[in-house]
Amino acid sequence: MSKVVKFGGSSLADAKQFRKVADIIRADSERCYVVPSAPGKRFKDDTKVTDLLYRCYEMVVSGEDFAKAFAPIRERYDGIIADLGLSLSLEDEYVKIGTEFRNGTNRDYAASRGEYLNGIILADYLGYEFVDAARGIFFDRDGKFDADVTNACLGAILDRTPRAVIPGFYGAMPDGSIKTFSRGGSDFTGSVVAKAANASLYENWTDVSGFLVADPRIVKDPKGIEVITYSELRELSYMGAGVLHEDAIFPVRSANIPINIKNTNAPEDKGTLIVPSAENIPSKYVITGIAGKKDFSAISIEKDRMNTSKGFMRRLLQVLENHEIFPEHIPTGIDTVSVVVNSKELDGQREKLSERIRETVRPDHFEIIDGLALIAVVGRGMKSVKGIATRVFAALSHADINIRMIDQGSSELNIIVAINEADFEKAIQVIYDMFILSEQ
Ligand code: ASP
Repeated sequence: MSKVVKFGGSSLADAKQFRKVADIIRADSERCYVVPSAPGKRFKDDTKVTDLLYRCYEMVVSGEDFAKAFAPIRERYDGIIADLGLSLSLEDEYVKIGTEFRNGTNRDYAASRGEYLNGIILADYLGYEFVDAARGIFFDRDGKFDADVTNACLGAILDRTPRAVIPGFYGAMPDGSIKTFSRGGSDFTGSVVAKAANASLYENWTDVSGFLVADPRIVKDPKGIEVITYSELRELSYMGAGVLHEDAIFPVRSANIPINIKNTNAPEDKGTLIVPSAENIPSKYVITGIAGKKDFSAISIEKDRMNTSKGFMRRLLQVLENHEIFPEHIPTGIDTVSVVVNSKELDGQREKLSERIRETVRPDHFEIIDGLALIAVVGRGMKSVKGIATRVFAALSHADINIRMIDQGSSELNIIVAINEADFEKAIQVIYDMFILSEQ
């Protein structure tokens, strides 16, 4: 059985971090496939190599000499090689990259060289084979990730390569040109490689020991989440809990491969284990996590006998669709409905939209309420336990926070409340206290 290990940029920022990474890999012989990011920040105001590459690209496009624009990037890699004491030289690679740049390459190619060069160094340091992601990760003609072709090709390559480093973040278009995923996309590559290798585990090594029950910028020293299901994670990430790229769960989820989020700087910490289902794994608390986001608006509508007005909802949603507005939540009453949307989506079209809604559904009352925040309280432990909602509401009411909307997902995995943005931090804190502090 093999494990796929992905290391983020801060885990590979300099030679010291490379050594930690190599120790981690060598500590478990099942860690056969390694997916590196590009070197990240070494200190707070440092610049990630990916950002240096984007900058280099812009400079070359606006007429700057390649060698000059590329110098800080070269310095980072040559520094790592020298500090690790490797006899490797990337000179030929730099020449090739220079030629591509001078021939007018694309921005994605430029950015992808961060992972590519880092992969070559890491492979050399570990004694693993280097497999260019452009040989096994593919996009279709429309630029969409091609899961089937990738799985077949990459699977075949890995079958005959027992230990390999596969750089994250990019793949190839049908014409051979390079395309990257969105920022942070090496997480996705790791997941794709885990699926192609039929791995027993996808370890995602970063600089935190997994997910926390709440945002540490709001709650002081929040508890860590030891086990979370894919569905719970979806809910929490969607509501703003970071750490893992949004798309990264899909390839492994479809193959039932768990993900373990681990900390390169504290490898003994358990981290967070993300599993397909946790029926037999009791959760420590009734809730798994709390996350939230600001900047929502509610399009609030009242109309007498709305419930019997044929096609009302369809017509309303059609107007929104025509304006490319995607409803986040739609709580309804007998004669009322609120459509909660991202405030940004209303930019530049409020008047037109209001006009169209008035014309189409003829509401008795219509208004757009801004300045809302949504908070999701998520947990598989909620399903069978009574009184969870009561406790959420009690915590908020005790803190004098007015609830503007309530929504419970049909799977009973979450309770979502909308509150005024000004109450956001306080609300997260009191819900945390109610469920985590009070249960210790
Ligand atoms: N290096 C890329 C970025 O900074 C991709 C990644 O790190 O996952 O976004």
